[in-house]
Order: sequence, then structure tokens, then C-alpha cells
Amino acid sequence: MKVLVVEDNDFNLKLFNDLLLLMNHEVISCQSADLVIDIINVDSPDLILMDMQLGDASGLDIINLLKQDPKNSSIPIIAITAFAMKSDEERILRSGCDLYLAKPISIEVFFDAISKFEHNNKYEAVML
Ligand code: MN
Repeated sequence: MKVLVVEDNDFNLKLFNDLLLLMNHEVISCQSADLVIDIINVDSPDLILMDMQLGDASGLDIINLLKQDPKNSSIPIIAITAFAMKSDEERILRSGCDLYLAKPISIEVFFDAISKFEHNNKYEAVML
């Protein structure tokens, strides 16, 4: 798959990049919320990993924009967050993302989450 990783933290970006390459996926990365939509329109990723805290921007706003755009609404999204707050968790699950992962993410959980999308499966939003 061609996987877009949207993550502003250098360490996490490198970790996700390395793990995806180990799984033989192609990786595109983006560290700025301002560029996400343009990159998606140009590169048409098969899967998006979306950090929910991008500096001043909210991953939730980006997900809402994508889900309102018929051209991009079917791209599966894995939301990644450090929030422990229940209200945010519920808003994220309602946003239309396909999977929700809370940091810190174990390598096993990461592999399992990515592999769920390797055969074009659409999953109901669940929390691992
Ligand atoms: Mn972040």
C-alpha cells in the first residue's frame, strides 16, 4: 500500500516510517497540517495514519474535511492520539476514522492495525 503518515513528531514519524517499510509498504510523510490535503490530492494514498495533535492544528479537523470530500472520503484513516480524555476519544471515533490507536503504540499493535487494511478491508472504528 501507499501509506501517508501525518505526524509532527520526528521520533514517531521515523518509527512509523521504519515499521511501514519493514512491512514493504510505500511511505509518504507529512509533518504540517497545511500540506495534508494537497499531498492527498496529488498522491492518492491507500491508507492515512493521522496524528490527532499537529502543533496548532487538530487531526480531527483534517479528518472532517476528508470525510466531506467525495474524492477522499473512502480513504481509510487510522487516528493516532496521545489524548486520554474520553470526550476526545468519542469525537475521534465519530469522525469517520476507521481505527483509533492511543500512544504509546506497541509494535505488535501497530503491525496488527496496518495489516487490517492490507486486503482492502474496511473496519468499524475500534480501539486497540
Ligand atoms: Mn503530534
